[in-house]
Amino acid sequence: MRLYFHFLVILVLILQSCTESESKIQDTYVLSNVTLIDPVDGSESNKSLLIKDGKIGQIFEANDKRIFEGYSRYDLTGKFLIPGLWDAHVHYAFNDSLRSSMNRLFLAHGITSVRDTGGPMEIVGEVKKYTKEHTTTSPNVFFAGPLIDGTPNVYNDSSPSYPLLSIENKDPEEIVQNTAGLIASEVDFLKAYEMLTEEQFKSLTKIAQEHKLKVTGHIPLSMNLFSAVEAGLNGMEHLRNLEMTAASNAEGLQRQRLGLLKNKDDLSGGFLRLLIHQKQRIPAIKAEDAERFKKVAKLLEEKQVFQTPTLVLYRNYATKAFKDSSFLKELNKLPEFVRNEWTSQLALIDTTTDKTYSNWMLNTVKKLRTYDIPFMTGTDTPIGFLIPGRSLHRELELFVMTGFSNLEALQAATVNPASFFELDDELGRVKEGYRADLLILDANPLDDIKNTQKSYALVKDGRFYSKEELHAMLNLK
Ligand SMILES: [Zn+2]
Repeated sequence: MRLYFHFLVILVLILQSCTESESKIQDTYVLSNVTLIDPVDGSESNKSLLIKDGKIGQIFEANDKRIFEGYSRYDLTGKFLIPGLWDAHVHYAFNDSLRSSMNRLFLAHGITSVRDTGGPMEIVGEVKKYTKEHTTTSPNVFFAGPLIDGTPNVYNDSSPSYPLLSIENKDPEEIVQNTAGLIASEVDFLKAYEMLTEEQFKSLTKIAQEHKLKVTGHIPLSMNLFSAVEAGLNGMEHLRNLEMTAASNAEGLQRQRLGLLKNKDDLSGGFLRLLIHQKQRIPAIKAEDAERFKKVAKLLEEKQVFQTPTLVLYRNYATKAFKDSSFLKELNKLPEFVRNEWTSQLALIDTTTDKTYSNWMLNTVKKLRTYDIPFMTGTDTPIGFLIPGRSLHRELELFVMTGFSNLEALQAATVNPASFFELDDELGRVKEGYRADLLILDANPLDDIKNTQKSYALVKDGRFYSKEELHAMLNLK
């Protein structure tokens, strides 16, 4: 038995080294006769692409047979090629049992880049290191490190719903020290959280600007959208706390928040935030003032503040979509332990639907998209039972539902997040010299956005994955 096991290990090692050298030989190849869809320039049919050294080496007419005759070819007649997709809001640190499966789940669903929007350095720093060393089997990961929060911090390890995703900062000096520490750890951006004081927030954006790092986050409850954006907030997640600034009684609401933030009852961060949201969110939505909303939109446009609304997170809760049989079938993609964990948690969720907040989000995106504001598709996976990769396609559908054209939705999932990191000259487009992170589809996503789900093949950092390989990656144990 033992001998047999050793034999098996050796066989696996031999097979592994075979596929590695094979992929090196196939580093250069031609993707032949495809309709390519560049998210900026639109679609062009009958094109072939030379993939070389992990990049798009050359794009040429498919009928030009003289070129690259000797190279291996993948015939993509009738197929559609788009850049690999981004999920601009994920949390590797949220579920320990799921973490090691997240890379495979992202790739298998065509997601080749992600932004990790909060987790402790010990975890997300390791994820970043691993993915940098395994570029053909992992998405590109851009990470913020922990949420930079005030006191009491929300994600403080007090329960499974509030794992330790943040650092608590008690005064502005701590912010300076902690942020310098994150910058030394080479984070790609910073994420500001809701319990920061105005003074703390301003000292955070000042340091970020000195180091040319973008700051995204939630509008701190102590502030309003105008002061946060003027102080240098570059991105907003979940449109968080926008409604409190657009309300006709916004000043009164802010005064009430500053009172509640004194936290006389010594609540935990999670409970204090919940209390404030419960007191203000729905009343603020009901008191929305058209002129104030316009001012908000104009400022977001002027300062080009990136919006990652994570519509799917709220839609799922509002409609209880995770009770649908189609959703439950999707759980089979998860490792067994996580599937069981989620199934038992889902059974406890009541089935009441309340769409008030989710409808407000959809309507707000609908209005904001008429301004020149950059949007990104993100989900918050695996929070809210969102399956890594799968949920991004649902987000794309919701973008289209709010009025984005299919091409604009693709921009939000490709070139826009690349430009958040000022990488739009190397990532997120189908152009010569760009990185070969590509998704090949059986049907045209410009006809129906759901066609992004019909994967035929994937290229990650030049490595070609067939449909069979992608399917095998979903069959996790
Ligand atoms: Zn999040």
